[in-house]
Amino acid sequence: MTVLDLLDLDPSLTEEERQIRDVVRRLVDDRVRPYVADWYEEGRVPARELAREFGKLGLLGMHLNGYGCAGASAVAYGLACQELEAADSGVRSLVSVQGSLAMYAIWRYGSEEQKQRWLPSMATGESIGCFGLTEPDHGSDPASMATRARRDGDDWVLTGGKMWITNAPIADVAVIWARTDDGVRGFAVPMDTPGVTAREIRRKMSLRASLTGEIVLDDVRLPADAQLPEAVGLKAPLSCLTEARHGIVWGAVGVARDCLETTLAYATTRTQFGRPLAGFQLTQAKLADMAVELVKAQLLALHLGRLADAGRLRPDQVSVGKLNNVREALAIARQCRTILGANGVSGEYPVLRHANNLESVLTYEGTSEIHQLIVGQRLTGLSAFA
Ligand SMILES: Cc1cc2nc3c(=O)[nH]c(=O)nc-3n(C[C@H](O)[C@H](O)[C@H](O)COP(=O)(O)OP(=O)(O)OC[C@H]3O[C@@H](n4cnc5c(N)ncnc54)[C@H](O)[C@@H]3O)c2cc1C
Repeated sequence: MTVLDLLDLDPSLTEEERQIRDVVRRLVDDRVRPYVADWYEEGRVPARELAREFGKLGLLGMHLNGYGCAGASAVAYGLACQELEAADSGVRSLVSVQGSLAMYAIWRYGSEEQKQRWLPSMATGESIGCFGLTEPDHGSDPASMATRARRDGDDWVLTGGKMWITNAPIADVAVIWARTDDGVRGFAVPMDTPGVTAREIRRKMSLRASLTGEIVLDDVRLPADAQLPEAVGLKAPLSCLTEARHGIVWGAVGVARDCLETTLAYATTRTQFGRPLAGFQLTQAKLADMAVELVKAQLLALHLGRLADAGRLRPDQVSVGKLNNVREALAIARQCRTILGANGVSGEYPVLRHANNLESVLTYEGTSEIHQLIVGQRLTGLSAFA
Protein backbone atom coordinates (compact mmCIF):
# COMPACT_ATOMS: atom_id res chain seq x y z
CA MET A 1 0.00 0.00 0.00
CA THR A 2 1.44 3.37 -0.89
CA VAL A 3 1.11 6.68 0.92
CA LEU A 4 -1.23 7.75 -1.90
CA ASP A 5 -3.88 5.33 -0.61
CA LEU A 6 -5.19 8.05 1.70
CA LEU A 7 -8.46 6.27 2.42
CA ASP A 8 -7.03 2.77 2.94
CA LEU A 9 -8.87 1.44 -0.09
CA ASP A 10 -6.50 -1.46 -0.63
CA PRO A 11 -8.33 -3.76 1.83
CA SER A 12 -11.56 -3.13 -0.12
CA LEU A 13 -10.12 -5.41 -2.78
CA THR A 14 -10.23 -9.16 -2.35
CA GLU A 15 -7.03 -11.12 -2.02
CA GLU A 16 -7.52 -12.45 -5.55
CA GLU A 17 -8.08 -8.96 -6.98
CA ARG A 18 -4.90 -7.70 -5.33
CA GLN A 19 -2.98 -10.66 -6.72
CA ILE A 20 -4.20 -10.02 -10.27
CA ARG A 21 -3.29 -6.35 -9.93
CA ASP A 22 0.18 -7.17 -8.66
CA VAL A 23 0.85 -9.75 -11.39
CA VAL A 24 -0.09 -7.23 -14.10
CA ARG A 25 1.99 -4.56 -12.38
CA ARG A 26 5.03 -6.85 -12.41
CA LEU A 27 4.53 -7.73 -16.08
CA VAL A 28 4.26 -4.07 -16.97
CA ASP A 29 7.33 -3.20 -14.86
CA ASP A 30 9.25 -5.88 -16.71
CA ARG A 31 7.98 -5.66 -20.29
CA VAL A 32 6.68 -2.11 -20.77
CA ARG A 33 8.10 0.51 -18.42
CA PRO A 34 11.78 0.12 -19.36
CA TYR A 35 11.00 0.59 -23.08
CA VAL A 36 7.88 2.68 -23.41
CA ALA A 37 9.58 6.11 -23.48
CA ASP A 38 11.55 4.97 -26.55
CA TRP A 39 8.48 3.50 -28.22
CA TYR A 40 6.69 6.75 -27.61
CA GLU A 41 9.53 8.86 -28.98
CA GLU A 42 9.90 6.65 -32.04
CA GLY A 43 6.16 6.30 -32.60
CA ARG A 44 6.18 2.52 -32.66
CA VAL A 45 5.26 -0.35 -30.38
CA PRO A 46 5.92 -4.10 -30.64
CA ALA A 47 2.18 -4.70 -30.49
CA ARG A 48 2.15 -8.32 -31.62
CA GLU A 49 4.86 -9.30 -29.16
CA LEU A 50 3.05 -7.51 -26.35
CA ALA A 51 -0.27 -9.06 -27.32
CA ARG A 52 1.24 -12.54 -26.98
CA GLU A 53 2.69 -11.66 -23.56
CA PHE A 54 -0.65 -10.26 -22.43
CA GLY A 55 -2.41 -13.28 -23.90
CA LYS A 56 -0.23 -15.65 -21.87
CA LEU A 57 -1.38 -13.87 -18.74
CA GLY A 58 -5.03 -14.03 -19.80
CA LEU A 59 -5.46 -10.26 -20.18
CA LEU A 60 -7.10 -10.35 -23.63
CA GLY A 61 -10.86 -10.67 -23.36
CA MET A 62 -10.15 -11.17 -19.68
CA HIS A 63 -13.70 -10.47 -18.50
CA LEU A 64 -15.33 -12.78 -21.07
CA ASN A 65 -16.24 -16.42 -20.48
CA GLY A 66 -15.32 -19.40 -22.66
CA TYR A 67 -13.34 -19.57 -25.93
CA GLY A 68 -10.03 -19.39 -24.05
CA CYS A 69 -10.98 -16.20 -22.15
CA ALA A 70 -10.19 -15.88 -18.45
CA GLY A 71 -13.72 -15.13 -17.20
CA ALA A 72 -12.43 -12.64 -14.62
CA SER A 73 -14.61 -10.15 -12.77
CA ALA A 74 -15.16 -6.60 -13.97
CA VAL A 75 -13.14 -5.31 -11.02
CA ALA A 76 -10.23 -7.62 -11.84
CA TYR A 77 -10.34 -6.46 -15.47
CA GLY A 78 -10.46 -2.86 -14.29
CA LEU A 79 -7.41 -3.37 -12.09
CA ALA A 80 -5.53 -4.84 -15.05
CA CYS A 81 -6.43 -1.75 -17.12
CA GLN A 82 -5.27 0.43 -14.23
CA GLU A 83 -1.85 -1.18 -14.14
CA LEU A 84 -1.46 -1.21 -17.93
CA GLU A 85 -2.36 2.44 -18.22
CA ALA A 86 -0.06 3.38 -15.33
CA ALA A 87 2.66 2.42 -17.81
CA ASP A 88 1.10 3.94 -20.92
CA SER A 89 -2.40 4.65 -22.24
CA GLY A 90 -1.41 3.29 -25.64
CA VAL A 91 -0.55 -0.10 -24.19
CA ARG A 92 -3.85 -0.18 -22.32
CA SER A 93 -5.58 0.78 -25.58
CA LEU A 94 -4.11 -2.30 -27.27
CA VAL A 95 -5.72 -4.50 -24.63
CA SER A 96 -9.01 -2.56 -24.45
CA VAL A 97 -9.60 -2.59 -28.18
CA GLN A 98 -8.71 -6.25 -28.46
CA GLY A 99 -10.79 -7.42 -25.49
CA SER A 100 -13.57 -4.93 -24.87
CA LEU A 101 -14.29 -3.84 -28.43
CA ALA A 102 -13.29 -6.47 -31.00
CA MET A 103 -13.56 -9.64 -28.88
CA TYR A 104 -16.60 -8.44 -26.94
CA ALA A 105 -18.45 -7.62 -30.19
CA ILE A 106 -17.84 -11.14 -31.53
CA TRP A 107 -18.49 -12.78 -28.15
CA ARG A 108 -21.75 -10.89 -27.57
CA TYR A 109 -23.13 -10.63 -31.12
CA GLY A 110 -21.34 -13.27 -33.18
CA SER A 111 -22.44 -16.71 -34.35
CA GLU A 112 -20.98 -19.81 -32.70
CA GLU A 113 -18.86 -20.29 -35.82
CA GLN A 114 -17.50 -16.73 -35.65
CA LYS A 115 -16.70 -17.15 -31.97
CA GLN A 116 -14.85 -20.42 -32.59
CA ARG A 117 -12.99 -18.93 -35.50
CA TRP A 118 -11.75 -15.76 -33.86
CA LEU A 119 -11.93 -15.71 -30.05
CA PRO A 120 -9.42 -18.42 -29.03
CA SER A 121 -6.63 -16.96 -31.18
CA MET A 122 -7.51 -13.42 -30.08
CA ALA A 123 -7.37 -14.51 -26.43
CA THR A 124 -3.79 -15.75 -26.91
CA GLY A 125 -2.79 -12.69 -28.90
CA GLU A 126 -2.09 -14.71 -32.05
CA SER A 127 -4.81 -12.76 -33.84
CA ILE A 128 -5.27 -9.03 -33.42
CA GLY A 129 -8.64 -7.34 -33.72
CA CYS A 130 -9.80 -3.79 -34.27
CA PHE A 131 -13.15 -2.00 -34.09
CA GLY A 132 -14.23 0.32 -36.87
CA LEU A 133 -16.99 2.73 -35.94
CA THR A 134 -15.54 6.22 -36.47
CA GLU A 135 -15.34 7.60 -40.00
CA PRO A 136 -13.54 10.61 -41.44
CA ASP A 137 -16.78 12.64 -41.43
CA HIS A 138 -18.66 10.95 -38.57
CA GLY A 139 -17.17 10.71 -35.09
CA SER A 140 -19.42 11.68 -32.19
CA ASP A 141 -22.46 11.03 -34.36
CA PRO A 142 -22.02 7.43 -35.57
CA ALA A 143 -25.74 7.25 -36.47
CA SER A 144 -24.83 9.28 -39.56
CA MET A 145 -22.19 6.78 -40.72
CA ALA A 146 -21.65 6.61 -44.48
CA THR A 147 -20.14 3.12 -44.75
CA ARG A 148 -22.66 0.94 -46.56
CA ALA A 149 -23.26 -2.80 -46.65
CA ARG A 150 -25.50 -3.99 -49.46
CA ARG A 151 -26.71 -7.45 -50.31
CA ASP A 152 -25.57 -9.09 -53.55
CA GLY A 153 -27.16 -12.52 -53.68
CA ASP A 154 -26.13 -14.17 -50.40
CA ASP A 155 -23.03 -12.01 -50.13
CA TRP A 156 -22.54 -8.62 -48.53
CA VAL A 157 -20.60 -5.86 -50.27
CA LEU A 158 -19.07 -3.18 -48.02
CA THR A 159 -18.04 0.26 -49.24
CA GLY A 160 -16.72 3.17 -47.22
CA GLY A 161 -13.98 4.02 -44.79
CA LYS A 162 -13.15 4.05 -41.11
CA MET A 163 -10.77 6.50 -39.46
CA TRP A 164 -8.75 6.59 -36.25
CA ILE A 165 -8.94 2.84 -35.74
CA THR A 166 -6.68 1.50 -32.99
CA ASN A 167 -4.71 -1.64 -33.96
CA ALA A 168 -5.89 -1.37 -37.61
CA PRO A 169 -2.39 -1.40 -39.15
CA ILE A 170 -1.65 -4.86 -37.72
CA ALA A 171 -5.14 -6.30 -37.33
CA ASP A 172 -6.15 -9.73 -38.62
CA VAL A 173 -9.84 -8.99 -38.21
CA ALA A 174 -11.86 -5.80 -38.07
CA VAL A 175 -15.31 -5.50 -36.57
CA ILE A 176 -16.83 -3.05 -39.03
CA TRP A 177 -20.10 -1.23 -38.46
CA ALA A 178 -22.02 -0.32 -41.61
CA ARG A 179 -25.41 0.95 -42.66
CA THR A 180 -27.73 -1.53 -44.40
CA ASP A 181 -31.27 -1.11 -45.69
CA ASP A 182 -32.40 -2.42 -42.29
CA GLY A 183 -30.18 -0.16 -40.17
CA VAL A 184 -26.70 -0.54 -38.67
CA ARG A 185 -25.14 -4.01 -38.70
CA GLY A 186 -21.75 -5.39 -37.68
CA PHE A 187 -19.36 -7.52 -39.73
CA ALA A 188 -16.28 -9.55 -38.84
CA VAL A 189 -14.00 -8.63 -41.73
CA PRO A 190 -10.72 -10.52 -42.22
CA MET A 191 -8.19 -7.82 -43.04
CA ASP A 192 -6.78 -9.83 -45.95
CA THR A 193 -10.11 -9.72 -47.79
CA PRO A 194 -9.66 -8.17 -51.27
CA GLY A 195 -10.66 -4.49 -51.22
CA VAL A 196 -9.61 -3.88 -47.60
CA THR A 197 -6.64 -1.60 -47.03
CA ALA A 198 -5.26 -0.17 -43.81
CA ARG A 199 -2.96 2.81 -43.66
CA GLU A 200 -1.18 3.86 -40.50
CA ILE A 201 -1.91 7.36 -39.24
CA ARG A 202 1.46 8.99 -38.56
CA ARG A 203 2.51 12.17 -36.74
CA LYS A 204 0.21 11.65 -33.78
CA MET A 205 1.30 13.77 -30.84
CA SER A 206 -0.58 11.49 -28.46
CA LEU A 207 -0.81 7.70 -27.97
CA ARG A 208 2.41 7.33 -29.90
CA ALA A 209 2.98 3.86 -28.44
CA SER A 210 -0.23 2.68 -30.09
CA LEU A 211 -0.92 1.87 -33.72
CA THR A 212 -3.79 3.82 -35.27
CA GLY A 213 -5.03 3.50 -38.81
CA GLU A 214 -7.48 4.35 -41.51
CA ILE A 215 -9.38 1.46 -43.11
CA VAL A 216 -10.65 1.78 -46.68
CA LEU A 217 -13.37 -0.64 -47.82
CA ASP A 218 -13.55 -0.72 -51.59
CA ASP A 219 -16.37 -3.04 -52.68
CA VAL A 220 -15.38 -5.64 -50.12
CA ARG A 221 -17.26 -8.85 -50.83
CA LEU A 222 -18.05 -10.94 -47.77
CA PRO A 223 -19.98 -14.17 -47.36
CA ALA A 224 -23.32 -13.95 -45.55
CA ASP A 225 -21.80 -15.50 -42.45
CA ALA A 226 -19.47 -12.53 -41.94
CA GLN A 227 -22.37 -10.57 -40.47
CA LEU A 228 -22.67 -10.64 -36.67
CA PRO A 229 -26.17 -12.13 -36.44
CA GLU A 230 -27.15 -10.75 -33.04
CA ALA A 231 -26.07 -7.15 -33.67
CA VAL A 232 -29.13 -5.14 -34.61
CA GLY A 233 -28.92 -1.36 -34.75
CA LEU A 234 -26.55 1.19 -33.28
CA LYS A 235 -27.12 -0.04 -29.74
CA ALA A 236 -24.83 -2.99 -30.52
CA PRO A 237 -21.64 -0.95 -31.11
CA LEU A 238 -22.65 1.42 -28.30
CA SER A 239 -22.82 -1.52 -25.87
CA CYS A 240 -19.25 -2.44 -26.86
CA LEU A 241 -18.18 1.12 -26.09
CA THR A 242 -19.72 0.83 -22.62
CA GLU A 243 -17.47 -2.20 -21.99
CA ALA A 244 -14.37 -0.35 -23.09
CA ARG A 245 -15.26 2.85 -21.25
CA HIS A 246 -15.40 0.91 -18.00
CA GLY A 247 -11.77 -0.10 -18.53
CA ILE A 248 -10.88 3.53 -19.20
CA VAL A 249 -12.44 4.61 -15.88
CA TRP A 250 -9.84 2.40 -14.19
CA GLY A 251 -7.02 3.16 -16.59
CA ALA A 252 -7.28 6.86 -15.80
CA VAL A 253 -6.70 6.02 -12.13
CA GLY A 254 -3.49 4.23 -13.10
CA VAL A 255 -2.17 7.20 -15.06
CA ALA A 256 -3.01 9.66 -12.30
CA ARG A 257 -1.31 7.44 -9.72
CA ASP A 258 1.82 7.10 -11.83
CA CYS A 259 2.02 10.87 -12.29
CA LEU A 260 1.61 11.47 -8.57
CA GLU A 261 4.10 8.79 -7.55
CA THR A 262 6.66 10.26 -9.94
CA THR A 263 5.99 13.77 -8.70
CA LEU A 264 6.08 12.93 -4.99
CA ALA A 265 9.44 11.25 -5.44
CA TYR A 266 10.72 14.24 -7.40
CA ALA A 267 9.38 16.89 -5.06
CA THR A 268 10.86 15.28 -1.98
CA THR A 269 14.36 15.05 -3.48
CA ARG A 270 14.65 18.19 -5.61
CA THR A 271 15.86 21.15 -3.57
CA GLN A 272 15.34 24.85 -4.32
CA PHE A 273 15.79 27.77 -1.93
CA GLY A 274 17.46 25.35 0.48
CA ARG A 275 14.58 22.95 0.93
CA PRO A 276 12.79 20.21 -0.99
CA LEU A 277 10.08 21.36 -3.37
CA ALA A 278 7.67 19.25 -1.30
CA GLY A 279 8.36 21.51 1.69
CA PHE A 280 6.73 24.52 0.04
CA GLN A 281 3.12 25.18 0.97
CA LEU A 282 2.13 25.82 -2.63
CA THR A 283 3.54 22.45 -3.66
CA GLN A 284 1.77 20.70 -0.79
CA ALA A 285 -1.52 22.33 -1.76
CA LYS A 286 -1.11 20.95 -5.27
CA LEU A 287 -0.13 17.51 -4.01
CA ALA A 288 -3.01 17.37 -1.53
CA ASP A 289 -5.62 18.42 -4.09
CA MET A 290 -4.32 15.87 -6.59
CA ALA A 291 -4.20 13.06 -4.03
CA VAL A 292 -7.80 13.84 -3.03
CA GLU A 293 -8.91 13.65 -6.67
CA LEU A 294 -7.01 10.38 -7.07
CA VAL A 295 -8.78 8.65 -4.20
CA LYS A 296 -12.14 9.99 -5.41
CA ALA A 297 -11.41 8.52 -8.85
CA GLN A 298 -10.40 5.21 -7.25
CA LEU A 299 -13.60 5.07 -5.23
CA LEU A 300 -15.64 5.80 -8.33
CA ALA A 301 -13.88 3.10 -10.36
CA LEU A 302 -14.33 0.53 -7.62
CA HIS A 303 -17.99 1.39 -7.16
CA LEU A 304 -18.68 1.11 -10.90
CA GLY A 305 -16.74 -2.15 -11.08
CA ARG A 306 -18.78 -3.62 -8.23
CA LEU A 307 -21.99 -2.48 -9.97
CA ALA A 308 -20.80 -4.18 -13.17
CA ASP A 309 -20.10 -7.41 -11.30
CA ALA A 310 -23.57 -7.24 -9.80
CA GLY A 311 -24.99 -6.82 -13.33
CA ARG A 312 -26.39 -3.40 -12.45
CA LEU A 313 -24.07 -0.97 -14.26
CA ARG A 314 -25.91 1.49 -16.54
CA PRO A 315 -24.20 3.21 -19.49
CA ASP A 316 -24.85 6.67 -18.03
CA GLN A 317 -23.04 5.59 -14.85
CA VAL A 318 -20.05 4.61 -16.96
CA SER A 319 -20.25 8.09 -18.49
CA VAL A 320 -19.99 9.61 -15.00
CA GLY A 321 -16.83 7.58 -14.46
CA LYS A 322 -15.23 8.27 -17.84
CA LEU A 323 -16.04 11.98 -17.68
CA ASN A 324 -14.69 12.45 -14.17
CA ASN A 325 -11.71 10.13 -14.13
CA VAL A 326 -10.19 11.11 -17.49
CA ARG A 327 -10.77 14.82 -16.85
CA GLU A 328 -9.18 14.61 -13.40
CA ALA A 329 -6.31 12.40 -14.56
CA LEU A 330 -5.50 14.96 -17.25
CA ALA A 331 -5.64 17.80 -14.71
CA ILE A 332 -3.35 15.80 -12.41
CA ALA A 333 -0.88 15.04 -15.20
CA ARG A 334 -0.68 18.71 -16.16
CA GLN A 335 -0.30 19.85 -12.56
CA CYS A 336 2.40 17.24 -11.90
CA ARG A 337 4.19 18.57 -14.95
CA THR A 338 4.47 21.99 -13.29
CA ILE A 339 6.09 20.51 -10.18
CA LEU A 340 8.72 18.78 -12.30
CA GLY A 341 9.66 22.11 -13.87
CA ALA A 342 11.77 21.72 -17.01
CA ASN A 343 12.18 18.02 -16.30
CA GLY A 344 8.43 17.79 -16.69
CA VAL A 345 8.74 18.24 -20.45
CA SER A 346 11.38 15.52 -20.72
CA GLY A 347 10.65 12.00 -21.85
CA GLU A 348 12.88 10.85 -19.01
CA TYR A 349 9.80 11.33 -16.83
CA PRO A 350 6.40 9.95 -17.77
CA VAL A 351 4.11 12.85 -16.89
CA LEU A 352 3.95 14.80 -20.16
CA ARG A 353 3.69 11.53 -22.11
CA HIS A 354 0.75 10.63 -19.87
CA ALA A 355 -0.83 14.06 -20.32
CA ASN A 356 -0.44 13.88 -24.10
CA ASN A 357 -1.91 10.38 -24.13
CA LEU A 358 -4.87 11.53 -22.08
CA GLU A 359 -5.75 14.05 -24.79
CA SER A 360 -6.72 11.04 -26.93
CA VAL A 361 -8.40 9.24 -24.05
CA LEU A 362 -10.46 12.39 -23.42
CA THR A 363 -11.66 12.22 -27.04
CA TYR A 364 -12.09 8.54 -27.84
CA GLU A 365 -14.81 6.28 -26.51
CA GLY A 366 -17.08 9.32 -26.40
CA THR A 367 -15.67 12.80 -25.87
CA SER A 368 -16.14 14.54 -22.53
CA GLU A 369 -18.87 16.66 -24.11
CA ILE A 370 -20.75 13.56 -25.27
CA HIS A 371 -20.54 12.10 -21.75
CA GLN A 372 -21.82 15.40 -20.34
CA LEU A 373 -24.77 15.08 -22.74
CA ILE A 374 -25.42 11.50 -21.65
CA VAL A 375 -25.42 12.55 -17.97
CA GLY A 376 -27.48 15.62 -18.91
CA GLN A 377 -30.07 13.41 -20.57
CA ARG A 378 -30.23 11.21 -17.47
CA LEU A 379 -30.80 14.28 -15.30
CA THR A 380 -33.32 16.09 -17.47
CA GLY A 381 -34.98 13.39 -19.54
CA LEU A 382 -34.16 15.54 -22.55
CA SER A 383 -31.79 14.46 -25.31
CA ALA A 384 -29.60 17.33 -26.49
CA PHE A 385 -27.94 15.19 -29.13
CA ALA A 386 -30.20 15.74 -32.09
C1 LIG B 1 -5.79 7.78 -30.88
C2 LIG B 1 -7.24 7.51 -31.20
C3 LIG B 1 -7.67 6.19 -31.31
C4 LIG B 1 -9.00 5.93 -31.65
N1 LIG B 1 -9.42 4.62 -31.80
C5 LIG B 1 -10.66 4.36 -32.30
C6 LIG B 1 -11.08 3.02 -32.58
O1 LIG B 1 -10.35 2.06 -32.32
N2 LIG B 1 -12.28 2.83 -33.17
C7 LIG B 1 -13.13 3.85 -33.47
O2 LIG B 1 -14.21 3.61 -34.02
N3 LIG B 1 -12.78 5.15 -33.20
C8 LIG B 1 -11.57 5.42 -32.62
N4 LIG B 1 -11.19 6.72 -32.36
C9 LIG B 1 -12.06 7.80 -32.76
C10 LIG B 1 -12.79 8.49 -31.60
O3 LIG B 1 -13.74 7.64 -31.04
C11 LIG B 1 -13.40 9.78 -32.15
O4 LIG B 1 -12.32 10.66 -32.40
C12 LIG B 1 -14.40 10.42 -31.20
O5 LIG B 1 -15.60 9.68 -31.16
C13 LIG B 1 -14.75 11.87 -31.59
O6 LIG B 1 -15.05 11.97 -32.94
P1 LIG B 1 -14.32 13.10 -33.84
O7 LIG B 1 -12.86 13.02 -33.60
O8 LIG B 1 -14.83 12.91 -35.22
O9 LIG B 1 -14.80 14.47 -33.25
P2 LIG B 1 -16.18 15.24 -33.57
O10 LIG B 1 -17.32 14.31 -33.41
O11 LIG B 1 -16.03 15.97 -34.85
O12 LIG B 1 -16.21 16.27 -32.38
C14 LIG B 1 -15.36 17.43 -32.33
C15 LIG B 1 -15.71 18.24 -31.09
O13 LIG B 1 -17.08 18.61 -31.13
C16 LIG B 1 -17.75 18.15 -29.97
N5 LIG B 1 -19.14 17.77 -30.29
C17 LIG B 1 -19.58 16.90 -31.26
N6 LIG B 1 -20.90 16.79 -31.20
C18 LIG B 1 -21.32 17.58 -30.17
C19 LIG B 1 -22.58 17.88 -29.59
N7 LIG B 1 -23.72 17.31 -30.03
N8 LIG B 1 -22.62 18.75 -28.56
C20 LIG B 1 -21.50 19.30 -28.08
N9 LIG B 1 -20.28 19.06 -28.57
C21 LIG B 1 -20.18 18.21 -29.60
C22 LIG B 1 -16.95 16.96 -29.50
O14 LIG B 1 -17.17 16.69 -28.12
C23 LIG B 1 -15.54 17.43 -29.79
O15 LIG B 1 -15.09 18.26 -28.77
C24 LIG B 1 -9.89 7.00 -31.92
C25 LIG B 1 -9.44 8.32 -31.76
C26 LIG B 1 -8.13 8.57 -31.39
C27 LIG B 1 -7.68 10.00 -31.24
